[in-house]
Amino acid sequence: MKKVHYQDIVAHVSSMCEEANFELGEDVMNAFQSAVREEKSPMGKEVLNQLIENANIASAERVPMCQDTGVSVFLVELGQDCHIVGGSLHDALNEGVRRGYEEGYLRYSIVDDPINRKNTGDNTPSIIHVELVEGDNLTIHMTAKGGGAENMSRLQMLKPSDGLEGIKEFIFETIKIAGPNACPPLVVGVGIGGNFETCAYLAKKSLFRPVGERNSNVEVAKLEEEFMSEINQLGIGPQGMGGSTTAIDVKVETGASHIAALPVAVNLNCHASRHKKVII
Ligand code: SF4
Repeated sequence: MKKVHYQDIVAHVSSMCEEANFELGEDVMNAFQSAVREEKSPMGKEVLNQLIENANIASAERVPMCQDTGVSVFLVELGQDCHIVGGSLHDALNEGVRRGYEEGYLRYSIVDDPINRKNTGDNTPSIIHVELVEGDNLTIHMTAKGGGAENMSRLQMLKPSDGLEGIKEFIFETIKIAGPNACPPLVVGVGIGGNFETCAYLAKKSLFRPVGERNSNVEVAKLEEEFMSEINQLGIGPQGMGGSTTAIDVKVETGASHIAALPVAVNLNCHASRHKKVII
């Protein structure tokens, strides 16, 4: 049984929070570079170049790439032969967020109660999903999820007879409603199947995959390519200024569902697609 100490988790998470906000991942930067080459709209190209410049300044000056430093969302894969000592996993993740946001001078974006809306003052509590897996590793995926894109995300309980056409219609309608408000170019996370709550989780989970990585299921990978191509024909473009780069990637995760159900969830991620991963 491997032991992982509470303080190790805190230290890793603290630095993940800072790195996520200061350093846009290589996958996203590569997608921007390739979009600049392919974008036909001069305004779209200009916006993409500005996003690259913005990310470079953030990295060089160790400042957040966006004023919205996001909600810390974790997907934790906890090996069943891994034992966390010195405190609880949830406390360690929240303490890491507390430290990272304070030491990195990152904006606190969490209110304690959705009605009274008092800022908690340390960017906690985080949103934490834990999956129990084989082995003794503790893998922590973290994203700093922006509010603008999250606000434009949607879920619909379709009928099985709506089929693939109904799924596509819902996805494209969501992107059109979002327009510039989700800060495109987007990474579009799509959950298909499961039930009401797991469908939303599938969409969120898909966003933890690196940009450019296709689903390992060939049929689902084909859907990702197809959705991406059609989304990029909507003309919304970078920051909604027009162009062919509305999305830099589309991710799809699917799950088994009830015979009477076809839930679909679309979780949007903005151009500040900040995700980090550590294996302890
Ligand atoms: S949605 Fe993303 S890019 Fe837009 S303000 Fe929030 S973090 Fe920044």
